[in-house]
Amino acid sequence: MMEIKILIEGYSEEISEDKVEAEGTITLVKSTKNTIIDTGNVGSAKKIINELSKENLIPEDIDFVVNTHGDLDHIGNNGLFVNAAFIGFGSVCRGDKFDFFDGEFVINENVKVVKTPGHSMLDVSVIIKTDKGIVVAAGDIFENEKDQDGSKAKKWSMNWEKQLESRKKLLEIADYIIPGHGKMFKVEK
Ligand SMILES: [Zn+2]
Repeated sequence: MMEIKILIEGYSEEISEDKVEAEGTITLVKSTKNTIIDTGNVGSAKKIINELSKENLIPEDIDFVVNTHGDLDHIGNNGLFVNAAFIGFGSVCRGDKFDFFDGEFVINENVKVVKTPGHSMLDVSVIIKTDKGIVVAAGDIFENEKDQDGSKAKKWSMNWEKQLESRKKLLEIADYIIPGHGKMFKVEK
């Protein structure tokens, strides 16, 4: 069984030049290995636990947590998932044990993690095979559906050229994209 649930839909609102209100998208992938992609802001724990309970899950049931990158709005509740292995850019961490990977890390036959640098240079995306096609949870490589031209994402990008390369790679394989701060959207081919 493969099921994708958006536990918290991310958003970002620019209040002024140096003020933003934002929450990163938190995604649950239910499969042979329950996986959480990003853990949102500190303070969102109650909401996460509540959303998980609707899926008959508790944080202890989560096998893997993927942090698409290290920004504060994507890692705030990592500590909830005490039984999980944590996947970041090129490494998987279980307690104090780190295993390194090049290229991709395979969670199971339907879920894998790939490196997609650009926004932070240490970004990863999760590629999920579903009945409806390939869904890619892309973190902040994509800000939201409206930002296809990247005018918003570019402002937060550490290396826009690399980010464009990552975008291209993901757009080629994805039927749907879950962006870091907005609704899932369909990729028009
Ligand atoms: Zn973000």
